[in-house]
Amino acid sequence: MRHTTEVYPMLSLEEALERVLAAFEPLPPERVPVLEALDRVLAADVYADMDIPPLANTAMDGYAVRCDDTGGARPGAPRRLRVVADLAAGYVLDQPIQPGTAVRIMTGAPVPPGTEAVIPFEEVERSGDDILVFKRYPHNKNIRAAGEDVQAGQEILARGTVLRPQEIGMLAALGRISVTVHRRPRVAILSTGDEVIEVDAPWQPGKIRDANSYSNAAQVLRYGGVPLLLGIARDDVTELTDRIRAGLEQGADLFLTSGGVSVGDFDVVKEVLAAEGEMNFWRVRMKPGKPLAFGHIGPSAGSGRSVPLLGLPGNPVSAMISFEVFARPAILKMLGKTELEKPTVEATLLDEVKRKDDRRHFLRVMIEERQGEYSARLTGDQGSGILLSMVRAQGLAIIPEDVDHLPAGARVQVVMLDWPERG
Ligand code: AMP
Ligand code: MG
Repeated sequence: MRHTTEVYPMLSLEEALERVLAAFEPLPPERVPVLEALDRVLAADVYADMDIPPLANTAMDGYAVRCDDTGGARPGAPRRLRVVADLAAGYVLDQPIQPGTAVRIMTGAPVPPGTEAVIPFEEVERSGDDILVFKRYPHNKNIRAAGEDVQAGQEILARGTVLRPQEIGMLAALGRISVTVHRRPRVAILSTGDEVIEVDAPWQPGKIRDANSYSNAAQVLRYGGVPLLLGIARDDVTELTDRIRAGLEQGADLFLTSGGVSVGDFDVVKEVLAAEGEMNFWRVRMKPGKPLAFGHIGPSAGSGRSVPLLGLPGNPVSAMISFEVFARPAILKMLGKTELEKPTVEATLLDEVKRKDDRRHFLRVMIEERQGEYSARLTGDQGSGILLSMVRAQGLAIIPEDVDHLPAGARVQVVMLDWPERG
């Protein structure tokens, strides 16, 4: 069956993205060791079950004293206190100290009962077993109160929080060795094409190595998913069907194919998608990346599992950019993230751009920053088979659908490929 342009009209990028994202929900929660939760999204609120710090303790190395014992102390008339104990961090003194005495104490050690201030070493004079105090100290001077950071019962992290190193440290401080986060999506990746061979296969005339499985798998990893590499299927409906069914058994949450979605005689992905599932749309008004197919695979197969499938175009640049535009936000949504947009900047385009069609163009650009001003220069040949145009790029300059000419010096929005993801 051929899918004609009447059956599947070309969609705007926005409409296509809306349809794709509607097919995904945050994945169910799982408990993982706290370090495996980095960059993932909390699926349950976290409360403190005790104060941090648990006990009042000293912020300085010094002498813990009773404030009354420092009353009236002046440089010319110091008060003399007997040092009765030495307390390191990690230990406690149980007995209250007597008037006229002090405890030598190290940062972090709980202040002994009855002491009300800590005098730093450099502010006293040591005299045998005594210290000389030269001024009055107010209550709580150099003392950290119990619960000054976190109070028992307080909500510390809300579900939906993307966990950064500081949240991981807080979870550790709260005694959590494991934490509940949304599961990582498993993303099946299948390349198609009679001409595509494994990267370690000896080269033969007419063949090319499978770049897409690797660039797409690396993108899956970068955005927090788990790639399942399914290899390469020939342009054959039966083989492709078998590979996709096998992939479904591996529990994929998203299926990615590359190639086989344009109008060539052997573009079988669309055919398999229609036969084995449901096609939602085909073709998006963007360049590169027009012949994108989206649908579900397996809804009628009786297994009950219906998995969204993105049929990415085969050209290596198209496969990567279509991934950025559609697969990336789908993965982030499954992870429970709500900030799905890639960071962008406004930049000055240093090259002139002319074009004829009315698709949204994603031009590969090198970015330079000078005093907060960004400039963007084309990476060279912008063909969708020129993978070096991606290798040289730090950004994708967006040329809107209704713009057919941009002079050098025009301002453009640029998607920053390597900027850290926002929470
Ligand atoms: P297709 O979308 O199948 O028509 O493929 C478009 C172009 O991309 C063709 O030149 C293919 O040889 C190339 N291509 C398809 N799949 C891959 C792949 N996995 N790695 C590298 N190039 C590919
Ligand atoms: Mg092909």
